Order: sequence, then C-alpha cells, then structure tokens
Amino acid sequence: MPDDMAKPLIRDRGSRLLEAAQTEPGSPLVGILGTGDFSRSLARRLVASGHQVVVGSRNPKRSAALFPDEAEVMSQLEAASQADIVFVALFPEHYSSLVELKQVLGGRVLVDVSNGLCLNQDGPSNAEQLADMFPESHVIKGFNTISAWALQSGPRDGSRQVFLCSDSSVAKASVSQLCRRMGFIPIDMGPLSASLEIENMPLYLFPSWKLPVLLSFALFIFFYLYNFIRDVLHPYVTSGKSAFYKMPIELVNVTLPCVALVMLTLVYVPGLCAAFLQLWWGTKYKRFPDFLDKWLIQRKQFGLCSFLCAALHMIYSLCLPMRKSARFTMLNQAFKQVKNGIEDSWVSEDVWRMELYVSVGIMAIGLLSLLAVTSLPSVANTVNWREFSFIQSSLGHCALFMATLHTCLFGWTRAFDAKQYHFYLPPTFLLVVIPPVSVLIFRSLLFLPCVALKLRKIRRGWEKTRHIRFTLPDEDCRNGLEDVSHV
Ligand code: NAP
Repeated sequence: MPDDMAKPLIRDRGSRLLEAAQTEPGSPLVGILGTGDFSRSLARRLVASGHQVVVGSRNPKRSAALFPDEAEVMSQLEAASQADIVFVALFPEHYSSLVELKQVLGGRVLVDVSNGLCLNQDGPSNAEQLADMFPESHVIKGFNTISAWALQSGPRDGSRQVFLCSDSSVAKASVSQLCRRMGFIPIDMGPLSASLEIENMPLYLFPSWKLPVLLSFALFIFFYLYNFIRDVLHPYVTSGKSAFYKMPIELVNVTLPCVALVMLTLVYVPGLCAAFLQLWWGTKYKRFPDFLDKWLIQRKQFGLCSFLCAALHMIYSLCLPMRKSARFTMLNQAFKQVKNGIEDSWVSEDVWRMELYVSVGIMAIGLLSLLAVTSLPSVANTVNWREFSFIQSSLGHCALFMATLHTCLFGWTRAFDAKQYHFYLPPTFLLVVIPPVSVLIFRSLLFLPCVALKLRKIRRGWEKTRHIRFTLPDEDCRNGLEDVSHV
C-alpha cells in the first residue's frame, strides 16, 4: 500500500505519450538512417509503439544522447545490416553518401520520407531516384506528410493519414502494418509512380482556395471603391462635406455584404449552368467545359468565403452604435427635431422595415452557419448523401433567398428614388441583388414539372440521341420520320 501511494496519480503528458512499450515478438527491427529532427521523433514514436529501433549515423557518439535509451545508435553500416525496414531520414541531396550501403540494403525495405524544396511536376521524384540508386531494395514512399512535431505529439493531435506507395506489395504491407501499430492510418496510393504526387502534397498552398480568395478580394476592392465614390467622394465634391471618417467601418460594413451575396450566388451558378447544359445537350454523358468542372469543385470554398464576409458584416453591424460618429449623428438629429418642434419621430414604415431587415438577416446568417458547419468533413461524414444535398442545396437556396430578401429590405423603396443615384451610379444594393434574383428565377424554372421531369430522366441516364427512329411510308407520315420509343 505505501508503495502504491508513492506512485504519481497522473504522469506528465510527454512521458505518457512516449513511454517505451514492451517490444512485441515478431515485430520487424526498424532502422533509421540520419539523426536529425525527423529521425529523433520517429525513433521515439517507434519505441513508444513497441518496436526495436536502431539508428545509423555518420557520428554515433555525438548523436546517441539525443535518442531514447531503447533506441541503439550505431554506424550506418551496422544499422542497415540489422534492420528489416530502413527509414532514410536524410535530405535527398545526401542519398549519394549511402551508396556504400548498396549491398547491405539489397532486399530490404527502404522508406523514403523526404520532401522536395519546391513543387516538382515533371519528376523523377526523390523516391524514384532512391529506387534507381538501390535497385535491389524495395523502395516505399511515405511519412513525408507527417511532421516531426506530429510524430512526437502523437497521431491524436496531428494528421493521422500516412500516404504510401511502392511497386512492392510486400513492402507496402509491412510498412502499412507498422503504420497502424504507430497509431496512424495508412492510405495506399498505388505504385511508386505516385510518389511525385505524395512529395508535392506538403508543398501545396491551399490550391482550391486560390480562385475564391482572389475573387473575394477583387470583389471587395471593386465594391469598396464603388461605395467610396458614392458615399464619400460624392458629398465631398457636391457639397464639400467630409465623410472620410466612414472609410474604416461604414464603408467596410456596406462592402462586406455585397461580397458575401455575390460569392453566395456564385455557389449556385455552376449547378444551374450544369443543369441547363444537360437539358440542352439531352444527356449527362457529355463532359462539362473545364472551367465549369473546376467551378463545381470549388463551390465549398466560394460558400465559406461568403460565410466569412457575412459573419464579419454581422460583427461590424453590431459595433456600429458604439462609434462616436453614430452618437453625434443621433444627438444632432434629436437637436434638429427639437429645434423644428417635432415631438414624435416614430415612422412606422421605417420601424417595420428595420425589424424585418434585422430578422431576415439573422435567419440568413443562421442558415449560412449551418451550411458552413456541414461542409466540415467530420460533420459531412455523419450525414448521408440525401441529407447532405438537402442541406447544401435546399437550405442553401433558402439562405440565398433570405440574404437577397435582407438586401431588398435594406434597399426598400430607395431604388426608385432619383437622389440615390449619386453620379448616376445605382445604389450598391441594387447592383448586388440582380445576380441572386436571376439565379433564384432560373432555379425556380427547374421546378416546372416538364423541366424537372426531363432533367430527372437525363440524370438517370436517359439520352436524347438514343431515340430509335424509323421511316414510315409516305402515305402514313408526311415528314417521313417518327419517334417511336426511348431506349
Ligand atoms: P535534419 O535535421 O537536417 O537531419 C538530417 C540528417 O542527415 C542529419 O541529422 C545527419 O545525420 C544527416 N546528414 C546531414 N548532412 C549529411 C551529409 N552531408 N551526408 C550524409 N548525411 C547527412 O533533417 P530532418 O528535418 O530530420 O529531415 C530529414 C528528412 O526527413 C528530409 O528528407 C525531410 O524532407 C524529411 N522530413 C522531415 C520532416 C520534419 O518535420 N523535419 C517532416 C517530413 C519529412 P548524421 O549526422 O547522424 O549522419
């Protein structure tokens, strides 16, 4: 009992994570060449998952202290000749220093964990170069997408997927098993020719976000300048009034919803184009133009950019009354009313417009939040396809409708007021409401029974050009051609 009391109840996180597990009988002896950051983290994780580890270094004495006691640090030759699976934790430019080990490494599994310095589209990959250097070994590419930090902190905190590829299925099977025992999920990417793609993976910088983010920026700049001309420059030029104070908050706040609404509309435009193209072609088996394909794939990113702008608009709007300028404007209006002898400034129409405007805006942001949450892979995986498409398509169109209504309520009758056309430029709400209204009109056309039925048939494989046609005798049929059936 006193012994038990002496034991700490909670061990510290680091020691618990990387505590050496008992070596499992039959588990392969794992070698690591190189003693850098990656090698040290890998050795710790391997030891923690019950593997015997030998580390090969050019200078074993210097590096031994950096590794856990359970991992033996020795010369590269000794490590390579003992291990069944050898991780090459060197930079590719140093691979040539391993040529002396060619004979010893023959028949062994070599794991290439290297990454390139920049995107390599033409090849050969580092792993293919290693395979050329060691034709007798079974080279496998993998673990390059896992950082030294993720290896140390454990798969719970970092990415759990390890992409593997090799021309040797036996090598792939043994490294996959090793992966699983370390707590990672091996993903088979096929033969070694896939190594170029795996090496490029950590080097991509949000490839699918480039267009949506650039477009959001471009729209923001366009609408900001447009609003600046109308709301700041116009009063300054026409009546000498300085409204430059509006630039940091008010202008940003009227620009953000414009970007949000246009970006949300752009989520639903490619789906409409696809539907109308399929109706026009009478088949779903014809490829869409490349730009439409890419657009369809990036709808999630367009939607998330829209959500970000809408959320920022909401925060900006909530902060509007906090500004000194808002308080001064309100006080000035009150003084003016007192001066003019107006006692009651209540305008029912304005009150109702504002109540509806705010309520519909809250609904729109609520629906957009739902769409954003369900686009997360972890949430999307918990719903089936029908539920996902109901949320993203049906509720998505509801969100678009609500956001459009919110904008219309903001504009109200001002679209018909000539004074709103500063420098003959229409108000921004009028500009941005045109695309979503068009999308909603075209979308409702797809609900017409004759259109919806045809589209449904096309999407189930029906094709216009697969009609069987035959010629009837002239006396029976004047034009000579008659559709008989759909196959
Ligand atoms: P590192 O810390 O620089 O270690 C590289 C090791 O290579 C050194 O410790 C050294 O070991 C050996 N070495 C250095 N110069 C050499 C030379 N001229 N000739 C032969 N061997 C030499 O690098 P690292 O961060 O561990 O990365 C190693 C590999 O893992 C790279 O290919 C990298 O792309 C990949 N990787 C790293 C990470 C990461 O998070 N660090 C993540 C994924 C993949 P000895 O002196 O003991 O021989």
